Amino acid sequence: SGKWARVIEILRVLEEDCATPIAKLRQVADAMTVEMHAGLASEGGSKLKMLISYVDNLPSGEEHGFFYALDLGGTNFRVMRVLLGGKEGRVVKQEAKEVSIPPHLMTSGSDELFNFIAEALANFVATEGEDFHLPEGRQRELGFTFSFPVKQTSLSSGTLIKWTKGFSIEDTVGQDVVGELVKAMERVGLDMNVTALVNDTVGTLAGGRYYNPDVVAAVILGTGTNAAYVERAHAIPKWHGLLPKSGEMVINMEWGNFRSSHLPLTEYDHLLDFDSLNPGEQILEKIISGMYLGEILRRVLLKMADEAAFFGDSVPPKLRIPFIIRTPDMSAMHSDTSPDLKVVGSKLKDILEVPTTSLKMRKVVVSLCDIIASRGARLSAAGIYGILKKLGRDTPKDGETQKSVIAMDGGLFEHYTQFSECMESSLKELLGDEASGSVEVIHSNDGSGVGAALLAASHSQYL
Ligand code: ADP
Ligand code: MG
Repeated sequence: SGKWARVIEILRVLEEDCATPIAKLRQVADAMTVEMHAGLASEGGSKLKMLISYVDNLPSGEEHGFFYALDLGGTNFRVMRVLLGGKEGRVVKQEAKEVSIPPHLMTSGSDELFNFIAEALANFVATEGEDFHLPEGRQRELGFTFSFPVKQTSLSSGTLIKWTKGFSIEDTVGQDVVGELVKAMERVGLDMNVTALVNDTVGTLAGGRYYNPDVVAAVILGTGTNAAYVERAHAIPKWHGLLPKSGEMVINMEWGNFRSSHLPLTEYDHLLDFDSLNPGEQILEKIISGMYLGEILRRVLLKMADEAAFFGDSVPPKLRIPFIIRTPDMSAMHSDTSPDLKVVGSKLKDILEVPTTSLKMRKVVVSLCDIIASRGARLSAAGIYGILKKLGRDTPKDGETQKSVIAMDGGLFEHYTQFSECMESSLKELLGDEASGSVEVIHSNDGSGVGAALLAASHSQYL
């Protein structure tokens, strides 16, 4: 019927608007390297903040002692304690607890959020066993992983530039987030020194390097997306401090805020951005990351329901609720291999309360998932390729066997198989056969938490 033809038309237009042929990916990668240069040249020189992390030495393996880490990301935060045993022992013992953040705390006041965090940390400290022994007279030390853009003023302090990923707490912006945490710890009577403040990408880079000396960059694909890499200190014109002995500095790109005329943006993306807590910002993040992929899918389905009676004569009311389709639901539907796509059917029933769907409708839904996820995955690959280009590691050097390893982490990368496989194959496509051999993508599981603890260890007040 005409209605079905309209469904197919909407699908086709989406496919066209989301297309990422290799030539486009190269343009995106080139634009990324241009913006990297601009962001390193001057403060505010680019949409890419290219933040200086104050990490000029990555873990060597020698780190030892007992440290805490706290990882505040998007939907959950994790508290962790690790016992580091140096080159031989490595991570001797590790305990962690995950706590989900009550949604109302993401948009209320700074004190409320940090009180909640400090309390959870205090509760975790209270469960410390005998095997984590703190030497007499010592204060506990913490590496604080904070996955939002921060202008660092030292390794252990920095002011919040803005919230992202569904957080919006006005009174934290411009404040020292370590100060906010310390005040909250004092309020709950927890005595602990915040030794290192690190972005999750920087933590993942540190955690990755601890196990693999060839790690040069880290990428997070989770609720949001971001990347960090090791830059040569003399290639950072905006850095006016002393050149670090190592000659290197880890840069937190904040690549989620990247945008370019080369990005394939659709009508759905523009409206999603318009309706978001941070319109005009985090444009790359809004087409790549886990917070948004399911929401893009919802918007396309809503258009199909509205304009082409996709779910019948009326639009399922649930389909009008923003963010009701979560990315894990999308990935479950995308990976449905049953002949009648029964997972797709049951997801649509559970989430949208659509009692029955035909096979051809389910097939359309899977195609939508594929189009939306592939665009995100291929653009992530283009970003990584951009970093490798900036580092001069995108082509094989004659007679050199230099390896470049990218440490990846985040729930999207870890759990959305189609996404991560597409990302890796697109990166290979960009690099070509020869250079692909010297580039490796690894999953640095929980690297950000361990990484923060490692950085706290190497910057301990007792060294
Ligand atoms: P954060 O980014 O909040 O620090 P994670 O790295 O754990 O936390 O990522 C969580 C995000 O990963 C979720 O918000 C979700 O978007 C995505 N995610 C989790 N599980 C899946 C899944 N099975 N399929 C697709 N995406 C997933
Ligand atoms: Mg995280």
